[in-house]
Amino acid sequence: MNDNQLLRYSRHILLDDIGIEGQERLLAAHAVVIGAGGLGSPAALYLAASGVGRITLVDDDEVDLTNLQRQVMHTTARVGQPKVESGRTALLALNPEIEVVALCERAGPERLLELARSATVVLDCSDNFATRHAVNRACVAAGVPLVSGAVIRFDGQLSVFDPRREGAPCYACLFPEDSHYEDAACSSMGVFAPLVGVVGATQAAEAIKLVVGIGQPLAGRLLLLEGRAMEWTSIGVAHNPSCQVCIKPG
Ligand SMILES: [Zn+2]
Repeated sequence: MNDNQLLRYSRHILLDDIGIEGQERLLAAHAVVIGAGGLGSPAALYLAASGVGRITLVDDDEVDLTNLQRQVMHTTARVGQPKVESGRTALLALNPEIEVVALCERAGPERLLELARSATVVLDCSDNFATRHAVNRACVAAGVPLVSGAVIRFDGQLSVFDPRREGAPCYACLFPEDSHYEDAACSSMGVFAPLVGVVGATQAAEAIKLVVGIGQPLAGRLLLLEGRAMEWTSIGVAHNPSCQVCIKPG
């Protein structure tokens, strides 16, 4: 690290749990953020500020006026731009020392697997079950930890699925692929703006913990946030032996 980096990251380096070594791990890490919207905005901003060396943003959407109420990575002037380009501009303005890859596409299974294989950690900041399941499959196949978040109305949830851990559940253990969950789109249901900030920032925190190797990750636990009462509930999540996605040989 050069002198500027030592200054930029000094408040992390001062933490005994992170220090120079942990900061070096962050600088060497690659975080893949699926979705550059309400969750992806705070998540990616904190990853960039923290000096995650390479961040890949994946989203096929463009910035719309209705996004700006909660998607804080974007600006009024960038309405109409691809979200990943707007996001890249925001992240590099905050920290020009990192690399930001902007993929304006709806990544299919092969692309997701390729991304997961190159990632240190994957953050699912998408807004639909099809993408969540595709991202989960890619992370299980690549053996890469997944930090999953979701928010609708006043409700948020997040968890970490880490296939490197013995007996750890995957996303599909919790929400089987053949169950029929309705996608509750923000466009029709509404979403309390600060809640995506809380959940997205918490996803960044879990991703940083995984990269540096500190604390107790949320693996095996699902955190539920009820925003009206601002009450967190933590429930245990077990591996489902009949899960079709993370079947282990033998
Ligand atoms: Zn599973």
